[in-house]
Amino acid sequence: LFAHVEVAAPIEVFALTAKYNEDKFQDKVNLGVGAYRTDEGKPWVLPVVRQAEIQMANDATLNHEYLPVAGLPTYREAAARLLLGEGHKALVENRVEGVQTLGGTGAIRLAAEFLKQFLNKSVVYVSKPTWGNHKGIFKAAGYAKIEEYRYWDDANRCLNLSGMLEDLKGAPENAVVILHTCAHNPTGTDPTQDQWKEIIQVCQDKKIFMLMDCAYQGFASGDLDKDAFPVRYMAEQGIEFFVAQSFSKNFGLYNERIGNLAMITNNPDMKLRVRTQCELIVRKIWSNPSNHGARIVATVLNNQAYYEEWKQQVKTMANRIQLMRQLLYEKLRSLGTPGTWEHIIKQIGMFSFTGLSVRQVEHMINHHHIYLLKEGRINMCALTTKNVEYVANAINDSVKS
Ligand code: PLP
Repeated sequence: LFAHVEVAAPIEVFALTAKYNEDKFQDKVNLGVGAYRTDEGKPWVLPVVRQAEIQMANDATLNHEYLPVAGLPTYREAAARLLLGEGHKALVENRVEGVQTLGGTGAIRLAAEFLKQFLNKSVVYVSKPTWGNHKGIFKAAGYAKIEEYRYWDDANRCLNLSGMLEDLKGAPENAVVILHTCAHNPTGTDPTQDQWKEIIQVCQDKKIFMLMDCAYQGFASGDLDKDAFPVRYMAEQGIEFFVAQSFSKNFGLYNERIGNLAMITNNPDMKLRVRTQCELIVRKIWSNPSNHGARIVATVLNNQAYYEEWKQQVKTMANRIQLMRQLLYEKLRSLGTPGTWEHIIKQIGMFSFTGLSVRQVEHMINHHHIYLLKEGRINMCALTTKNVEYVANAINDSVKS
C-alpha cells in the first residue's frame, strides 16, 4: 500500500539537531535551532512563566473543558493589547479581533486559508531569504504562485530597500505579502521606521494584502513597543491587515504551540465577520486550541506585576544576545579573520546571517562540530561566554581554509 511513498527529505533544522545530538565531541555547538539558551547553554524557563504555572496548578477553579473555538478570550485580548499598545485607537474603536492558533505557524496557515477562501488570494510574496516554512505553508494551503521579493543585499550585507520596493511594485494587485514585523529571520536586518512607511505605502498603492509575521516581539530591541512599530503604524492609518503572533520565543513557550492571528479591520461588524469565518476554518483543522500556553500568557499579561517581570526577562534575553554579538565580533576582529564582520553587531534579534558559504558551513560542521544552517544563519543565543572563542576560531579557520 505504501510502497510508492518516498521517504521525505529531512527538515534541515531538525536533521541538524539530530546530527548534533549524535555527535560525541565534547565541545560541539548547535547554532541551528532558533531557541534561546542561557549562558550555560541551557534552555530557559522564564521565572515568570514558572510562577504563572504554579499559580495555575493551585487554582482549583481551572479545569480542562474545551476552550471556545477561537481560543481563550482573556488571552486573545491580551495578545492584541501587547501588539498594538494599551489604548491604541484600533482597540478603542473595537475593530481588532484575535483567534488563538497553534503557534505562529498556525496563525500563518489560518491566514493563508482565510485569504484564499474569502479574498480569493492565490499569489504570495515572501522575502528572499525568509524563514524556511513560509513558502511551504502557503503551498500547502494551495496557493498557485509563491514569489520572492528582494530583501537582502549580499554584497553590502544590508537591506536591499530599492530591490524590495521594485519587486513589490511589480506584484499583482491581488497578492499577499508576508512582512517580518521585527528581527527578520534569517537576516537579523529590519527596515528603519521611515523605510517601513515607504514599504507600507507601496503595498497600499498596489492593494497588496499585508500579513505581518510577528514571531519576535521584544527580541529585536528589547523594547516590546518599539518592535511593534510597523503594526501600530498601519493600524493608525486605518489599514486592514493580519498579524501572525507567536509567543514561542518571547515567552520561551516553544512546545506549547501558542500563537494568535490578530485581525485589524475597519469596524466591529467586519471584525465579527472575519472571526466567525476563521472559527469555521479552525473547526475543520484543529477544532479548538489547547489551553496551557494561552493561560500562561494571559496570566502574565493580565497581571501588572507579572507583566513588569516578564518585560525584564525579555530584556535579559535581548541583552544576552547583544553581548554575544559583541563578543563574537571582537574575537573575529582580534583573530584578523578575512572579511568584514560589522554586520554581526549591526544585525538584531535571535539570528545572524553570517555570510559563510555552503562550503564554509560544511567545514564548520565536519571539522569543528559546530552545527548551522547551510544558508549561514546562526542562532546567537546558542553562543555563550564559554564557547564564543571556540566558535570564532572555527569561523576563522573555515574562512581561511
Ligand atoms: N515566523 C518566523 C519568522 C519564525 O522564525 C518562526 C519560528 O521560528 C515562526 C514564524 C513560527 O513560530 P512558532 O514556533 O510559534 O510556530
